[in-house]
Amino acid sequence: MSATRPGHAPLTQFPVVDDCLVVGGIALPELAARVGRTPFYAYDRRLIGERVATLRAALPDGVQIHYAMKANPMPAVVQHLATLVDGLDVASAGELRVALDTGMPAHDISFAGPGKRPAELQCAVAAGITINLESETELERVTRIGEALGRRPQVAVRVNPDFELKSSGMKMGGGPKPFGVDAERVPALLAAIGARALDFRGFHIFCGSQNLRAEALIEAHDKTFELGLRLAEQAPAELTMFNFGGGFGIPYFPGDLPLDLAPVGDNLAGLLERLHAIHPRAAPIIELGRYLVGEAGVYVCRVIDRKISRGQVFLITDGGLHHALAASGNFGQVVRKNYPVVIGNRVRGSAREVASVVGPLCTPLDLLADRMELARADVDDLVVVLQSGAYGPTASPAAFLSHPAAVEVLV
Ligand SMILES: *Cc1c(COP(=O)(O)O)cnc(C)c1O
Repeated sequence: MSATRPGHAPLTQFPVVDDCLVVGGIALPELAARVGRTPFYAYDRRLIGERVATLRAALPDGVQIHYAMKANPMPAVVQHLATLVDGLDVASAGELRVALDTGMPAHDISFAGPGKRPAELQCAVAAGITINLESETELERVTRIGEALGRRPQVAVRVNPDFELKSSGMKMGGGPKPFGVDAERVPALLAAIGARALDFRGFHIFCGSQNLRAEALIEAHDKTFELGLRLAEQAPAELTMFNFGGGFGIPYFPGDLPLDLAPVGDNLAGLLERLHAIHPRAAPIIELGRYLVGEAGVYVCRVIDRKISRGQVFLITDGGLHHALAASGNFGQVVRKNYPVVIGNRVRGSAREVASVVGPLCTPLDLLADRMELARADVDDLVVVLQSGAYGPTASPAAFLSHPAAVEVLV
């Protein structure tokens, strides 16, 4: 690798003992034996706890941290997070069942996403959670369901803002979008909410994901706040929540640097003061997925074969894009880049080489590392893809080629 090309940010969250990665306090070979088979995902409960603590220290008092479950809906992970965060955000009735199982109060669970089916809305109204309305159709459906069940649905409005979050990995607001209600149509929707038997709670404004730039997040929070304040002038009831969205990113690729939380927290402190002055009962919420779990997880697979093709080393593993679509570069990336990868049972290794890590699927897309510098590995060694705690198994085409599913453990 040339000296001028940026590498991966140093990842030190997992200790290395006797040249083995230690996950959840267990050296990787022992953990692999305990799990019983590869490939598997392991999530480190201590790291998840530390991440929430770091956030709390950087964000002003009174900010509620919600976990967006679609990042990692493994029930044990959600249960663990439910004891650490202030609320859960679900994106389907399936996620809602897992959320309710944790004992999180319905008041602190919200449901966002386009195309909520009537049966899902019924579950949400019956549970008493907050529904982020994303269209006029949803408003009508929720109203009818509330009448049928004899309950007042709790609703907020998800706004499609009239601005974009700069430098986001994925833009989810601004311009024409399937998410939320266009800001200019929100006043009419608020009037309709006021005319129906619905409890209005506030606004949800989510601009985008995977942002590593504090200045971009600050600008988004400022604009989100101004938009929310403007819309609140026409609210049919006092605001009890104000969801600023999230979008905090984690470093995945060479050249990525961790997000600097301090300025984001300082800026939010100023916004909160203003929010409290105008809407004293509005709970400020930040909702995060990958930021809470992404760096706490590893994907572990085993080398099945080692081949040299025309001078290039290929480590062929039992894992691949069917479990780790994002790490393979096929989950929305425009240009494929390597996730951080190490040989988990010989991290530094006595010898090193440039190798590509591939999976068993019959497609060139099944690539976990493209010509990376790694410890020299052989059959039965363990390949670890770091930064894998979010958008793993549930965001991968597990059925493709009919290989076994990945095991998941929380350690
Ligand atoms: C996907 C999603 C999130 C989580 O995004 P991350 O990038 O994982 O933090 C949060 N809120 C909404 C509305 C989402 O759709």
